[in-house]
Amino acid sequence: MAIISCPFCGHRVSDKASSCSNCKGDLTGDPVKLAAVQRDRRLKQSQSLVNQSMLALILFLGGFGVLYWWQPSSGSYNEYVSTAAIAVGFIWYVVTRVRIILLKRSVKNGF
Ligand SMILES: [Zn+2]
Repeated sequence: MAIISCPFCGHRVSDKASSCSNCKGDLTGDPVKLAAVQRDRRLKQSQSLVNQSMLALILFLGGFGVLYWWQPSSGSYNEYVSTAAIAVGFIWYVVTRVRIILLKRSVKNGF
């Protein structure tokens, strides 16, 4: 018995199970079709992660843009918001990039 990931939701299930315990997806179908479903889901997932990393980058650069062009006075609300945008954008971007790397690695390992 081996643990595989559900092609529909990514939940870990036994390869002997006939349906996923998480999403009730049917695991008894054509393995080729199931593999296609899984590839499709991964593609969408990585696409949405790429979109998220773009948003994070825009937030990050936007924060810098505000600080650079508007030059809000020290301690002002605008300075606080743009500094927060830089911090959140940076963390969000790093987290998303790591998730993309992990997703690519899991594809390589066949999970
Ligand atoms: Zn599932």
